[in-house]
Amino acid sequence: MKLIDVTRQFSTEDKCLDYIEASRWPNGVCCVHCGVLNVSKITREAGKNKRTRIYQCLDKECGKQFSATSGTIFNDTHLPLTKWFLAIALICEAKKGISACQVQRHLGVNYRTAWHLCHRIREAMKDGGDLLTGVVEADHTFLTPKKPRKGRPYVKKEGRDVILGMVERGGRLRLVPVKDAKIEITEPMMGKHISPDAILQTDEHPTFEIIGTRKFAAHRTVNHRRTYGIGDLHTNTIENAFSLLKRGVYGTFHKVSIKHLGRYCDEFSYRFNRRGEQLAMFDVTLKNLANGKALPYAELTTGPKAS
Ligand SMILES: [Zn+2]
Repeated sequence: MKLIDVTRQFSTEDKCLDYIEASRWPNGVCCVHCGVLNVSKITREAGKNKRTRIYQCLDKECGKQFSATSGTIFNDTHLPLTKWFLAIALICEAKKGISACQVQRHLGVNYRTAWHLCHRIREAMKDGGDLLTGVVEADHTFLTPKKPRKGRPYVKKEGRDVILGMVERGGRLRLVPVKDAKIEITEPMMGKHISPDAILQTDEHPTFEIIGTRKFAAHRTVNHRRTYGIGDLHTNTIENAFSLLKRGVYGTFHKVSIKHLGRYCDEFSYRFNRRGEQLAMFDVTLKNLANGKALPYAELTTGPKAS
């Protein structure tokens, strides 16, 4: 999906509603309250702040009214659907991520709206799914530099932003923010994401040496002091994913608070896992948004820290 296609294809509220209806009700419109297919359409004149397409449930006991956006995140917002759609396309398209400032400029909304919008879309970009199998590369990366920058005092931060990355060779990626690179935290986390019969590929860090022999079918290492990798023995896939994330964090967002780091990691792995399938990504994100729960602004700004 190219940006120009989104602006053309979803230029009006009606076209957006068509799309949501088709994706929500592939077998025809059914009541969102009771599920019957016996509904009638109420046509209202288009007006300001009024959703135009309302349905009436014809079931005797239910008899409620609803629209394609009822019970979805789109219903609780004053933002036009056209702007939601454009924002989803922008985020799906942005390989290195897109800042709320940029979304604000593209959509012509205020910063707070843009920021909240981005986070709600990011929330819909979560990958669950099966354990990683085959050859799986794993490594840690640190977002805050280990050494102080020249001319600046070094402040040791509480809760370093460490990220554990795991990726199947030629397959799926998982980025998980962790409190620490210690084995007590790394081992259970890897068990949660990687299948025990996988072949683990890491550098020669002692943490991974222990985990590799204890938890997985096989463990291969590469000595980074001597080489970047020989033939198949490398961790370049995960290094590439890290560098993409860092370019996003440093270049696009400039600074990411630890609280929201999990959501940025999800966004990056989600996009990485769907590289080359923009249209499918747009579709899945929209479906997730339509089925997901609301993410109130207050929860975002005061909620508990992501772990
Ligand atoms: Zn009903």
